Amino acid sequence: MHNSPIQKKIFQNKTIYIKRDDLLSKEFSGNKARKFAYFLDYELPNVRKIVSYGSNQSNAMYSLSVLAKLKAWEFEYYITHIPDYLEQNPQGNYKYALENGMNMIIQDQKPLKNTIKNKEILFIEEGGREAYAEYGLKILAQEIDTWKKEQGFESINIFLPAGTGTTALYLQKNFKDKVYTVPCVGNEDYLKEQFQMLEENEEFYPLITSPFKKRHFGKLYRESYNIWLELQEKMGIEFDLLYDPHGWLTLLENPHIFDKPVLYIHQGGLIGNESMFLRYKRKYDENI
Ligand SMILES: *Cc1c(COP(=O)(O)O)cnc(C)c1O
Repeated sequence: MHNSPIQKKIFQNKTIYIKRDDLLSKEFSGNKARKFAYFLDYELPNVRKIVSYGSNQSNAMYSLSVLAKLKAWEFEYYITHIPDYLEQNPQGNYKYALENGMNMIIQDQKPLKNTIKNKEILFIEEGGREAYAEYGLKILAQEIDTWKKEQGFESINIFLPAGTGTTALYLQKNFKDKVYTVPCVGNEDYLKEQFQMLEENEEFYPLITSPFKKRHFGKLYRESYNIWLELQEKMGIEFDLLYDPHGWLTLLENPHIFDKPVLYIHQGGLIGNESMFLRYKRKYDENI
C-alpha cells in the first residue's frame, strides 16, 4: 500500500490538514483498505471463503468483495432484507459487490463467529470490527507521525467520524496525540461498547465529541447535504455522504479542537456516494 498524501486546506477561515486515504487506490481505498491491509500483506493459505454480514449498502461489503476477488476467494454476505427498489435498480456498493462475485444471502439470523469452525472460512464482523484491523491502522499512525515531524508540529489533534469506531480506536492506540471522534451510528454509549469489544484498556480510547444535534444513520438532512456541497466547492474534495457531513458539522461546532493543528482523516467511501447522492438529489435538488 502506498502512503496517502496530506493536504493543507482552508475551510471556513480555519486551516485544516486532510489525510487523503480516499486516494490510496481506486478499488481498495479509505479506512477499509487500512482495516483489511493485513489480508493483503499476509498469505492465508487455508482460507477459501470470506463470510460477513451487515447492511445492503455497506462500504465494508464492497471492500470485502474486492479483497475476495483479488485473493480468488468466495465471498458470502448476509443481509436481513433488500428493498425492492435496490433489487430492481442495483447501484453503489451493492451493484459493484455483486459484480465482484458476492454471494448475497437474505435471512433474519446473522452468522455467528463462534459457530464457524471451518478453517477455510475467514469470518469478518460487521464493518470490519476485527483485531486484524490494528495492523493497517498502525501503518496509518506511523505515516501521520512522520508527517508531523516533517511539519515540525509539537502535537496535533486528529478528527474522524466513527461507525464501529475501529479506525478511531486503533489510530488512538498507536498515536500519542489526541484523536477525536463522533458516533454516526448510535450514541456515545453504543460507540464505547464497540471500543470495549476490541480493547479493554480505556486509556487507548479516542475522545468522543457529542454532536449538537442527533442525526440518524443513513437519513437525509438538508444541513448535511449543504456542508458536503460546500466542502466540495471550497476544497475541491469529494467526501463521503454517510459519515463525513456529520463529522464535519460536529468538528466545526467544537472550535477548541482547533487549538492545535487539526488533521481530518478522509476515510474514503466514495463508491457508496453513488446511491446516497441520488437520494439527496431526489430529495433536495428537484423541487427547489
Ligand atoms: C466504514 C467507514 C467509516 C466508519 O469506520 P469505523 O472504523 O467503522 O468507525 C467512516 N467513514 C467511511 C467513509 C467509511 O467507509
